[in-house]
Amino acid sequence: MANKDGKQNILSLNTEELKAVMLEYGEAAFRAKQIFGWLAKGTESFEDMLNIPSKLIARLEEDYYIGLPCIVRSSKSAIDGTVKVLYEMADGSCVESVCMQYSYGNSICISTQAGCRMGCTFCATGIGGLERNLTAGEMLGEVLQMRNFIGDRINHIVLMGMGEPFDNYENVARFLKLVNDKAGYNLSMRDITVSTCGIIPMIERFGDDFKQVNLAVSLHAPNDEIRRRTMPVAKAYPYKDLMKACKEYTQKTGRRITFEYSMINGVNDSAECAEELASNIKGWLSHVNLIPLNAVKEKDYKASETKRIKAFKSILESYDIACTIRRTLGSDIDAACGQLRNNNRNN
Ligand code: SAH
Ligand code: SF4
Repeated sequence: MANKDGKQNILSLNTEELKAVMLEYGEAAFRAKQIFGWLAKGTESFEDMLNIPSKLIARLEEDYYIGLPCIVRSSKSAIDGTVKVLYEMADGSCVESVCMQYSYGNSICISTQAGCRMGCTFCATGIGGLERNLTAGEMLGEVLQMRNFIGDRINHIVLMGMGEPFDNYENVARFLKLVNDKAGYNLSMRDITVSTCGIIPMIERFGDDFKQVNLAVSLHAPNDEIRRRTMPVAKAYPYKDLMKACKEYTQKTGRRITFEYSMINGVNDSAECAEELASNIKGWLSHVNLIPLNAVKEKDYKASETKRIKAFKSILESYDIACTIRRTLGSDIDAACGQLRNNNRNN
């Protein structure tokens, strides 16, 4: 899938697999760690790996390529410095990534799929359906290439770009381990957040597999009736079961869960909705992130008014529920939540 001229993307391989390749080549096993280290630095060509003998470089070039995605287009917000890039993968699939600068460092929002098949009615990514899953090496490539582009380390990763991470679990799991590897990029699991629209079996699995990674669940409603209007996934996974899985996740991991709640005018933003949401989650180890809906030109939803969002927040807080209103970054370059799309290089 992500192969180029019959070659494999070396960024998808972990150190054990690289060791096996070295063995097959008749090379010393320690070369694997050296190569892995070079790759994690964002090295663009095998020839730049200075301590690797030229014979091995030639062999690697025959079988592999370094899958740093090509930057087709980039834009920078005049308001807050947020950077958005359009990446093209080896097979021509395009995805977007966004890098935000916070006081605590650089945070990248990466895509996990080209497109998405979940069809949430307020989101631009879902409009064209799913094109394909990204591989672990392609996700790592998004991070490494962004670091090369901004010339600074990426300190946090959120899997909140295009796609549904839990609809591509195996590749996402492999990516998390690759980026966390001490011999590689060495990013702490605690500095990573995965966001899901609520695929229950995968929430359960994730709680077992990745106890230190943060989990955000896109809830966007206080009950099934409202949730089903905007999120088709709610038809497969009833609200009650989703809440049970979320609660079990917090108990199993001892970690706070984040609920994302996009505020849509007249759909989910009433005082009754806030009361109902509060009654569902009061006393939990949780945090609610209220996201003013971002405009998507094909959709007629509107963002809730600021005073309504503030009133919603006050109600949640009256139940001692931790709640923040997400600052919208990069809205002038369509880089905000739900605005990423399957842009190809021609539009
Ligand atoms: N598929 C995952 C992660 C990517 S979407 C998920 O749905 O959680 C990242 C976040 O942006 C989700 O919380 C999603 O619901 C939200 N979102 C989508 N469209 C939006 C829009 N138009 N305005 C604000 N938030 C939006
Ligand atoms: Fe897919 Fe998330 Fe957009 Fe829903 S909100 S269509 S799950 S990317």
